[in-house]
Amino acid sequence: MIYLDNAATTKPCEEAVKAAVEAMTVNFGNPSSLHRAGLDAQLAMDKARKVIADSLGASPENILFTSGATESNNLALRGASAAYGKKRRKIVASAVEHASVDETLSDLESKGFEVVRISPRGDGRFYPEDFLSACDEDTVLLTMMCVNNETGYILPVKEVFTAVKRRFKDIITHTDCVQAYMKLPIKASSLGADLISLSGHKIHGVKGAGALYIKKGVRLIPVVTGGKQEKGIRSGTESVPLICAFGAAVEKLSPTIKQRYETVSGLKSRLSELLSAIEGVSLNSPEDGSPYVVNISAAGKRSEIMLHYLESREIYVSSGSACSKGQQSGVPAQFGITGKRADSALRISMTAETTEAEIEQFADALREGIANVRG
Ligand code: PMP
Repeated sequence: MIYLDNAATTKPCEEAVKAAVEAMTVNFGNPSSLHRAGLDAQLAMDKARKVIADSLGASPENILFTSGATESNNLALRGASAAYGKKRRKIVASAVEHASVDETLSDLESKGFEVVRISPRGDGRFYPEDFLSACDEDTVLLTMMCVNNETGYILPVKEVFTAVKRRFKDIITHTDCVQAYMKLPIKASSLGADLISLSGHKIHGVKGAGALYIKKGVRLIPVVTGGKQEKGIRSGTESVPLICAFGAAVEKLSPTIKQRYETVSGLKSRLSELLSAIEGVSLNSPEDGSPYVVNISAAGKRSEIMLHYLESREIYVSSGSACSKGQQSGVPAQFGITGKRADSALRISMTAETTEAEIEQFADALREGIANVRG
């Protein structure tokens, strides 16, 4: 099988699987228990917390574990707007956020917040000044993702957050770094972020663990209440096995971010070269986007039909975003991908383990698919 849907999820690495099994078979205690078994689980979790904190240039106290980025995004937006949004009622966001941010914003909107969504301009690019001019004294929160999961577009988070913080220091800044973490060098302080959402299963960890970086001094009103785990901000017994898997994956990937970026950039170049030779295929991702996510349009052939044709050849890609469960997302249109181009859009998402031979087989299968499938 040729797996090219790594933006949806990745195969857990051996180290992650081993760490999860160890936490299930050896350190299986409840990390809140006061006895030795509990302490061992706590220590295993502490190790993961430190590894993740180090990777962001943060300290372990800044890292809160969640069930994944969907929960991290919910907690960041709901928690910060509840803590700081009594008087300031405006939220500024990019218009290309993942559903876990966008749907949460819509819910906050229905509860009386004004949400201003910033779109890319006609050239398909975001301009920092558009975010800056939308922010004012009434703004409580600013949220924008680092890398768009459907096109690989890299948003100017650092430029926007630093400029906004300079002018409005009380605005809470949040970024969904799911598709950037362990792929681009992400450091909490240089980004100017108060809150950063991460997910384990996008980086060769296991589904069901995520994290939220919370800058020291930033308050969040809990969304899930109960036994006061995770400093009372996120109650519920932590999933030690999945958290340990997350930590093991980060430990493995952290030292090779640059190297892997270069490898995947090479794969993207090869893919672009092969695709340019197929009539009717166009590239929807920007050249300077993250090489890990490549969005293309397949000569007017409907995405779903093409996806299943490729599947019959044991090649797995995605149409739009895998999180949208078949529902068409509005994000491609934001980037100017509309009509037939949108209907035939496919997302190819790679890892450093993807090989050139796999990319070549994909391109061959795509060419045959275009020649053979109807509509
Ligand atoms: N944000 C982005 C940008 C994503 O790509 C995803 C996963 N598709 C999520 C959030 C949600 O992550 P999780 O599956 O960990 O809830």
